Amino acid sequence: MGESMTECVDDANKVKSKASKIDGKAVAQAVKERLKEEIQAQVQAHDNLSAGKRRPGLAVVLVGEDPASQTYVKNKISSCEEVGIVSFHHRLAADVSQLEVQNLVRRLNADEAVDGILVQLPLPAHIDTREVLSLIDPDKDVDGLSAVNQGRLAIGEPGLFPCTPLGVMELLRYEGVELKGKHAVVVGRSALVGKPVALMLLAKDATVTVCHSRTSDLPAVCRSADVLVAAVGRANMIKGSWIKPGAVVIDVGINRIEVNGKGKLVGDVDYNEAVEVASKVTPVPGGVGPMTVAMLLSNTFTSYKRR
Ligand code: NDP
Repeated sequence: MGESMTECVDDANKVKSKASKIDGKAVAQAVKERLKEEIQAQVQAHDNLSAGKRRPGLAVVLVGEDPASQTYVKNKISSCEEVGIVSFHHRLAADVSQLEVQNLVRRLNADEAVDGILVQLPLPAHIDTREVLSLIDPDKDVDGLSAVNQGRLAIGEPGLFPCTPLGVMELLRYEGVELKGKHAVVVGRSALVGKPVALMLLAKDATVTVCHSRTSDLPAVCRSADVLVAAVGRANMIKGSWIKPGAVVIDVGINRIEVNGKGKLVGDVDYNEAVEVASKVTPVPGGVGPMTVAMLLSNTFTSYKRR
């Protein structure tokens, strides 16, 4: 999808092409509509077979009162309603004990109505996050952050994989971007984004380079990319001169900056420069961001079908 190539006339009166914007909001909406239809069909099939009438279920655990986390959880729950997934919201006080959180996760693991468990991060400092996440049944781990699912991704076995990297791959698929034999450069090596997206690109036969804060001559490595994925967390770091003409650029970064005293969200890529060089670019906001929740819903439905 995406806007058609826009043409503009530059100062020298030459016709210059601008990159098309990859519209993550529209792709996320399309994913949700497809899911809604599939969920409806699946539930109806169950009704007909009397094999069980339940809908897919997602349990969301929120500890404390962090306003940003509350907003994310609200958004996830309303997205569940949109597609026909039942959500179970568990709110725990900020001073809850480690044992209480763990006991809740154990109960959710055993609950037949729950296909996916999402523990909203960050957890309060006194809670051992790793310990909690490692307790989630890997087959209900819809955030895909457990060691089991990261391992499955690494060795090419089916599993539940991290939502933002899945969102990146869905955008590339939707846009019809050929990956086989192409050079994909991923800037960032976190377990949340950089590493999993690199493994997913590799699984699609791209030749993948992963960069990080110690990479030598990062601009030159980026310039060799047919597909460039930025997941760094540094506002406007990747300049137009770092991008190969015609490359596809996916900007995962979300950075809050001040412009004229007002807060603004920008990515890791300097968008205004990138559109002059690339063939397709994701904006921030409205690019990868909306895809993350869509893929969380998709993971929940995948888990439901498998169970
Ligand atoms: P992390 O901080 O965990 O990882 C950042 C990575 O960038 C690290 O691997 C780090 O290298 C690398 N890095 C830092 N500085 C440089 C530099 N100057 N040059 C090259 N590499 C550098 O971040 P995340 O992966 O969690 O997130 C990355 C961005 O994506 C953030 O802006 C985050 O907000 C956003 N994000 C967006 C989501 C969405 O839904 N759109 C979801 C998740 C994240 P090193 O390993 O050497 O330290």
